[in-house]
Amino acid sequence: MTGSMQGKVALVTGASSGIGRATALIFGREGAKVVVSDVNGEAGEETVSIIKEAGGAAIFVRADVSRAGEVEELINKAVAAYGRLDYTHNNAGIEGPSVPTHEYPEEEWDRVVSINLKGVWLCMKYEIRHMLKQGGGAIVNTSSAAGLTGVKGAAAYVAAKHGVVGLTKTAALEYAQSGLRVNAVCPGNTRTPLVERILAQHPKREAHLIEMAPVRRLGTPEEIAEAVVWLCSDAASFVTGVAMPVDGGWLAR
Ligand code: NAD
Repeated sequence: MTGSMQGKVALVTGASSGIGRATALIFGREGAKVVVSDVNGEAGEETVSIIKEAGGAAIFVRADVSRAGEVEELINKAVAAYGRLDYTHNNAGIEGPSVPTHEYPEEEWDRVVSINLKGVWLCMKYEIRHMLKQGGGAIVNTSSAAGLTGVKGAAAYVAAKHGVVGLTKTAALEYAQSGLRVNAVCPGNTRTPLVERILAQHPKREAHLIEMAPVRRLGTPEEIAEAVVWLCSDAASFVTGVAMPVDGGWLAR
């Protein structure tokens, strides 16, 4: 696939870093106009510059996905800038603390769930309203391998990522006859700034993270992004409601 998304418009949240930036760049490579969104403006503008330097079109729109008003404005700005919205990758997320369930702080629970779960729902809510008017579209939500299995010490993260899978399946059913496909990607451990932050706090965990995947390495952001862009593309026209692991075999064990 190269240039297969000419004339299309893609929105990526959490696109200042890691998996989101990689997806934004691949949408750009495929010829889509890209709306780069994040709370981090400086790094978001950097994503835009990389796309433009490669010959693509992109704009940055700042939005905190946990705030309904900001998400609604994001979708309005995206449509105002480029006239339509074909593909969205609802990807913004945070890791939260690493503590057992009985010690998990309530305020951290609320923060993780409001960004990782409510944020995905809010994005879908406003994206779908526009896509229904337009007559179709494709949405990919970032869940996690931790959306399909438990992980010790990550109660809110795991609960939120399982929730994303439920939201995805529900919307897939609701809009299957409206030209809208809704899928989730479930990355395994991927070398991004999020994982680098965890490893900076717990350096001994790298070997464990590598162990978890039968391929015995971390994924790259690009390996996740290629799956997201494929799920959005017409090549995946019969695929809706799936939670697709891209995890080096972790969940096959
Ligand atoms: P990252 O930290 O590199 O990127 C996340 C981006 O989201 C950052 O740019 C950050 O500024 C942005 N963000 C955070 N809170 C936000 C908010 N409220 N509104 C808008 N943007 C916000 O992390 P990543 O590893 O690229 O993670 C991207 C997604 O992939 C997350 O949902 C994460 O849970 C998921 N994921 C990551 C891994 C992994 O191993 N890296 C594995 C499974 C799932």
